[in-house]
Amino acid sequence: MSLIDDLLELNLVERQLRGLQSRVGSAETFFNAQNRQMNELLQRQEELQTRRKQRQVTANGFETDTKAMDERLEKLRNELNTAETTKQYSAFLEEMNTLKKTRGETDELTLAEMSEIENLDSDLATLEEAVNDRQKLLTRAVTELEERKAEIAERVSELQRERDVKAAVIPESPLQTFNKCADDFDGDAMAHVEEIDKKRREYCCSSCNVNMPFNNVVKLLGSVDSLMQCENCLRILYITPEMKAETVSK
Ligand SMILES: [Zn+2]
Repeated sequence: MSLIDDLLELNLVERQLRGLQSRVGSAETFFNAQNRQMNELLQRQEELQTRRKQRQVTANGFETDTKAMDERLEKLRNELNTAETTKQYSAFLEEMNTLKKTRGETDELTLAEMSEIENLDSDLATLEEAVNDRQKLLTRAVTELEERKAEIAERVSELQRERDVKAAVIPESPLQTFNKCADDFDGDAMAHVEEIDKKRREYCCSSCNVNMPFNNVVKLLGSVDSLMQCENCLRILYITPEMKAETVSK
């Protein structure tokens, strides 16, 4: 068998292998998308929880202040009743009024914090629903991915062994070219020469349809042990047995 025949056989296995793996590929894409969205939701959840914690700390601080102010007010009320001079009385009264004003302001601040916390709680509840919904999709994606992988696992290892055997007979340099083309064109590494018009010696690459010099066709017909890549799309070119038979018979 010629080098091109060996490569065509390898190509056949390579394509089957990639075809099988692409079935897993779509399940993998679905899983990755679900996973990414889940991570975004969890990150947002963590942000909101941190903000809620900070708000709660502030609210707790206001509450402590209020308690202290209430105690002081209670004490001042008693002192007001037992004031011995007018001066003392006015001083107590003034402190009480200042304190009441500050307490009122603190109440307002506390209410504002509590309202922010309520908003955050509502956002968090919505987010939790979204996380639960996404978790269902993610679980489905994981199951699907595992099923797909299991489905093809046996056939894939069979084909991989087969590919190793086919690749073993090909010299290193053409094998490297083949592997690169297979990766670059997702398994579509080879293209045959297409005859457009025999009389006018017009030929093209079957993959990209770009015309090729007749000289190259002649070279391909002659040499069986060196590779030629399409000048345009870089796929490995070959002459089909039909075309070869026809050309030889003439
Ligand atoms: Zn081409």
